[in-house]
Amino acid sequence: MAILLSTKAAIMAEWRDAMLAVDPSLDIRLFPDAGEPAEIEVAVCWSSHDMAELRRYPNLKLLVSMGAGVDHLLRAPGPPPGVPVARLKDDRLTTAMGEWVLLNVLRFHRQDAEYRAQQAQRLWRELPAPDTAQRRVGILGLGQLGTHAAGLLRVVGFPVLGWTRQPRQIEGVTCFAGAEGLRAMLGQTDILVCLLPLTPQTRGIINRETLALLPPGSFVINSGRGGHMVADDLLAALDSGHIAGAALDVFEPEPLPAEHRFWGHEKVLVWPHASSITIPRSAAPQVVENIHRLRQGRALINLVDFSAGY
Ligand code: NDP
Repeated sequence: MAILLSTKAAIMAEWRDAMLAVDPSLDIRLFPDAGEPAEIEVAVCWSSHDMAELRRYPNLKLLVSMGAGVDHLLRAPGPPPGVPVARLKDDRLTTAMGEWVLLNVLRFHRQDAEYRAQQAQRLWRELPAPDTAQRRVGILGLGQLGTHAAGLLRVVGFPVLGWTRQPRQIEGVTCFAGAEGLRAMLGQTDILVCLLPLTPQTRGIINRETLALLPPGSFVINSGRGGHMVADDLLAALDSGHIAGAALDVFEPEPLPAEHRFWGHEKVLVWPHASSITIPRSAAPQVVENIHRLRQGRALINLVDFSAGY
């Protein structure tokens, strides 16, 4: 059994070494040097890999995403028929995302932009004190990442709301589900955080109508995928003042084009898809675990549900 690794050239060797540190017996091939196609049984890929190319490997039995998201792998033509897809559920990813969400919620809550603007004018002036217990944070997606972020926000004292596909019960989180649930949550959300997977159902979910449901002066934080927001609708809501600020880590396309208005917008914080970066040595054990399970004919872990799209 050989394993094909395909990611950015700069981190390919780091991935290989991290996997070999877990199991030195693995036969790992770095794309494009796949060797004999029939020997490849597992492909571990990032978004750059062309899914049509994977059809070259007649014995492929498992495709692993090098991230928590799999939208890049499910996009047409998708994985070869019959090949299961696993994704990462990694503590380092989860922790880093929690930090990033907390960082930006606190920036907005504690009027950081206003104080920086005052600093630029050497202006010594107190703004009205914000009340944590009154600042409601609504999270789209309460999965691995959203649930952790919700826990951190609760510890700080924010009222936390969350929206999922299936109804959920999470202690201390006011949970909503489905289309009606979304409308209800948005009307009570002062800071909206998107931690959804990108699927046909969630594409464009941050749009003119949903933004209008948020109370005036609310904030938007998106670290799901760029495709979750309709950029022009968000810009219009920022320009009108209805949305007071946005922290964005993901865009469509990426990199964000140099001429895009988000870059220079005074109310927008731009991050280069860096809120939570996969660390190969942290992620490798679960990837190798799945390779061992495949070899031994045992059930695989962290599999994607194709019917749900994530
Ligand atoms: P999970 O699969 O663990 O959780 C996904 C959550 O989204 C679940 O709560 C799910 O609901 C909810 N959801 C999915 N579809 C819908 C829908 N149609 N309506 C309502 N809720 C829905 O994913 P993770 O938490 O691990 O990751 C979430 C996403 O974060 C990834 O897919 C990726 O796009 C993004 N991400 C971004 C990173 C970055 O660097 N910016 C890094 C890592 C991930 P339910 O609970 O009912 O299943």
